[in-house]
Amino acid sequence: MLASRLYSPTLREIPADAVVVSHQYMLKAGMMRKISNGLYAFLPLAWRSIRKIEDIIREEMAKIGCQEIMMPIVQPAELWQETGRWAVFGPEMFKLKDRHDHEYCLGPTHEELITALTRMDTSSYKQLPVSLFQIQNKYRDEKRPRFGLMRSREFIMKDAYTFDADEEGLDKQYKLMYDAYTRIFTRCGLHFRPVIADTGAIGGSGSHEFEVIADAGEADIVYCTSCDFAANVEAVQPKAVSQHIHNDKEKELVSTPGQHTIEMVCEYLHAPVSQSIKAVVYKLDDKVVLAMVRGDHEVNEVRLQNIYHAVNVGMASDEDLKACGLIAGYISPIGLKTSDKFDIVVDASVMEMEDACCGGNQKDMHYIHVNPKRDFPNVRVDTIRLIDTHDVCPVCGGHIEMKKGIEVGQVFKLGTKYSEALGCNFLDQNGKSHPMVMGCYGIGVTRTVAASIEQNHDEDGIIWPINIAPYEAVIVPFNTKDEEVMKAAKELYEALNTSRDEIVLDDRKGRAGPKFKDADLIGYPVRVTIGKKLKENGTVEIKIRRTGEVIEVPFAEAAEKVN
Ligand code: ATP
Ligand code: MG
Ligand code: MG
Ligand code: MG
Repeated sequence: MLASRLYSPTLREIPADAVVVSHQYMLKAGMMRKISNGLYAFLPLAWRSIRKIEDIIREEMAKIGCQEIMMPIVQPAELWQETGRWAVFGPEMFKLKDRHDHEYCLGPTHEELITALTRMDTSSYKQLPVSLFQIQNKYRDEKRPRFGLMRSREFIMKDAYTFDADEEGLDKQYKLMYDAYTRIFTRCGLHFRPVIADTGAIGGSGSHEFEVIADAGEADIVYCTSCDFAANVEAVQPKAVSQHIHNDKEKELVSTPGQHTIEMVCEYLHAPVSQSIKAVVYKLDDKVVLAMVRGDHEVNEVRLQNIYHAVNVGMASDEDLKACGLIAGYISPIGLKTSDKFDIVVDASVMEMEDACCGGNQKDMHYIHVNPKRDFPNVRVDTIRLIDTHDVCPVCGGHIEMKKGIEVGQVFKLGTKYSEALGCNFLDQNGKSHPMVMGCYGIGVTRTVAASIEQNHDEDGIIWPINIAPYEAVIVPFNTKDEEVMKAAKELYEALNTSRDEIVLDDRKGRAGPKFKDADLIGYPVRVTIGKKLKENGTVEIKIRRTGEVIEVPFAEAAEKVN
């Protein structure tokens, strides 16, 4: 590719709404442009990286016998109504109607559709397992689309689904996928960690997320420094909280009705964060409830008193919560979730955040639904001992630490939830009917591009892992007016470009300085500079973007060296 023809309009300034590095560099390097909130157009450089990731995925899926298909993006509401997710998915789902008033959604995921598809033609144990995937745009009307490709409203996902006769079969598929994901992210050059994930909302018996370790990540990962244990904080119980209560009796909240000010320290964070918390403890039916507001602001009494729909903090089951009218779970920004003595914690500060729709630690939170017309129940404060459970690995008792992660993939043992709801059954050897045992497995392809940049960059720009770099190398003739230099540059370009389209020749007129800047920004793994050394001693300069290492090689050996 000639740089003079390459459609990569670089920017001098960083657009103001881009706050994370991947977003900034992708705009600056002319890789993509924003069309609307959470909607991006990919220009050639981004598209090439995306395609490379897709190709790696395709190769690894082929190795485990998972076949590529393509399903409609537009999905009929009926399927989602059959599984009950039409209502549950909530405002994240893009819904639409056709001219006949039939309801549809733009697929945020495809469990319903693939299950309906598989049940059409799969009816015998002899046909199992079935293992299929697609790479396609997904649509989620995220509450806070942000960070460019990290959380967009249209994004490319690889989603795979498996159907087996029994749990044993599912376990096998799961392992195959898990290992394939490990190979995929390794080939993408990412530093990642598979972690135990929460199976809460979607239901199922086991799940792992693949988390790219990076400060810009939105997931909190805890891991043990002594053993292999690693998990998303959402999945671990008890939670990492220790408390210091401003009271004579340490760690005891004495039983006086009303408000108490307590201070909680979340020790998962490297630097302990302390926040003052105003709390009301009361009993709701037979549950002990802690309602609290974090931060320095005054407790909003009305609000506090209106909160009845509470959050599971580890003891109340889904059924309990439903009984209390809870619609959705809640993920605390500081990881505060549990105590041995509270059945339910209500975090009023979430309400404030939701209301204000403001900054702070905006997790991808679910709503806590509040009914302002119920009466405040009789407050009866019990003596509460807040149990200190931080820093302990549930496997070996070792020390727990926390890091931020970007969820680039997730594998999930679904079981029979969808096959039962949609009647996706098979007949066993004895002619008996059973629901198929399913697994689902996603990779955020476009998020993976962003994650790679978050992990691989410096102040000059992107540092691509070679396998997913848009182009592998750039040739920069130091002076385009120098005929000898240009001739050599073209010769090298042609020699390298014959086999594959992986080289850019920066044939643009002008000084070399801005070209070097662009080369660093775009992040070509290798830069070959052809300049006056060619005349002096017949050499060219090869620079490795990642290490900054520079080697001089005779021109005649340059092609071989770059390859
Ligand atoms: P998150 O927790 O970040 O909201 P998720 O758990 O909702 O992600 P999944 O339903 O597991 O996402 O989808 C599979 C993969 O799709 C995720 O692992 C992630 O890489 C990607 N993904 C999900 N939502 C987005 C988004 N809004 N923008 C880009 N990629 C996304
Ligand atoms: Mg999500
Ligand atoms: Mg997630
Ligand atoms: Mg997920």
